[in-house]
Amino acid sequence: MEIDSARDAADPFVSLNNDEKQAVLKDLVVTRRSSVAVLRRCVPRHQNMTTRTSTRQEKKAAVLREEFALHRCSKACLILESEAVQAGLYEKNPLTATELQECTLILNLRSNGKKRKNPPQPEMPRKQVRTSLECSSPGTVFPFILPQTEKDKIVEEFRESTSNAALKRYECSFCGKLELATDVKMRPVTELDISLLGFAVKSLRENSSQPLIESFKNSSLIDRSTYVLCHLCNLSVKHHKFQTIPLRSYANGLWIGEVPPELKDLTLLEERF
Ligand SMILES: [Zn+2]
Ligand SMILES: [Zn+2]
Repeated sequence: MEIDSARDAADPFVSLNNDEKQAVLKDLVVTRRSSVAVLRRCVPRHQNMTTRTSTRQEKKAAVLREEFALHRCSKACLILESEAVQAGLYEKNPLTATELQECTLILNLRSNGKKRKNPPQPEMPRKQVRTSLECSSPGTVFPFILPQTEKDKIVEEFRESTSNAALKRYECSFCGKLELATDVKMRPVTELDISLLGFAVKSLRENSSQPLIESFKNSSLIDRSTYVLCHLCNLSVKHHKFQTIPLRSYANGLWIGEVPPELKDLTLLEERF
């Protein structure tokens, strides 16, 4: 949100408590039934409010009115003096530069990037110490302290994304590539026709005199009954049948047999020597 200094002087943001802000908002949205243009201009000044839907469509007036009705004004919400006067709140003090900066910081943080669907933020803890520092260096904004629920959520997200389940990788039965569970496709042995790979492997065995070449690795099957397909190998499958031979598959001449354990866990650097 941009703060226009010329406009600020004529119609500054005023210092109100949350109940007063709520009353001004009610006056604007319900009592006056302001036009959609007025509502849209108002939206970026209220915490957790947006003018567009998740699909980037402009919200209609009715939707905005509904959301404003559910909205609870917080410390970050900004009210213009003209709006306060309209609602009968006269001679309120304008926000100081520091207060204004703090509010815009919170509003910007909340309206940009990934949105968390949180209930309205509890009031920011305001430390006594900050007031005295404010006087010594106006314009300084201190990082606000996150509420405990927000901290818990961050820890939970971290634990989820680093859990064993989230990091587990499956080996592709046809090329050996390791992929995340979300990227691989499981196909029951009985439902996937791999005859094309069978033909390719047969001629590979004959041409290279290597009778041990296989089209898939037996040990990578799940419960001996389900193939694991990486997203690349899965591209070659249509109507439960391999239509082409995947580029990096064993059946395309990349079978090297069982790798001894000494060589299995080499690092990239070790592999080069
Ligand atoms: Zn608000
Ligand atoms: Zn694969």
